[in-house]
Amino acid sequence: MTQSNGTAKAPSNRRQGEWSAIRPFLDKAPVDVGKVAESLGIKVLQSRLGPRISGILRRDPGQGARSGYVIIVNDAHPYNRQRFTVAHELGHFVLHRSDDFTELADDEFYRALPGPLEREANEFAADILMPWALINALMAEGCNELPGMADRLKVSRQALAVRLGLTYDQDWEN
Ligand SMILES: [Zn+2]
Repeated sequence: MTQSNGTAKAPSNRRQGEWSAIRPFLDKAPVDVGKVAESLGIKVLQSRLGPRISGILRRDPGQGARSGYVIIVNDAHPYNRQRFTVAHELGHFVLHRSDDFTELADDEFYRALPGPLEREANEFAADILMPWALINALMAEGCNELPGMADRLKVSRQALAVRLGLTYDQDWEN
């Protein structure tokens, strides 16, 4: 973790602009997180990272797309977890990058930055992958069971349970 000022926040006008770029991709399940990254000018690479590393956000003007940033996601992890990792790193990009940012690496519990910043990135990821409007639309279609909804959204059942404020139920594994 080489960001010198972990508490730096994106100016809200920049965040608003980036949110506007993302929004059009959030109305269809599952949300195409690759397209969301592309809309922000970020290149996503899959690679075999260490077993305890979920993902990396790196400033790499050579390899990065328009933004000059790349996200590297651990291709050994399950598909839905990779999606969450990409969305989580997008949260760090939008909310936490600063002028002197170079790289951060999230471990398996998403602990790259101190204090409340990881919770913010997780909330951002939830907003991307499980938008409330989409959850409500699925419910209106009759998709009321958590396992089915998680499958439609391509998120883990645990992630959706957290989003919905439910206590995780072991029976969902079956
Ligand atoms: Zn993180």
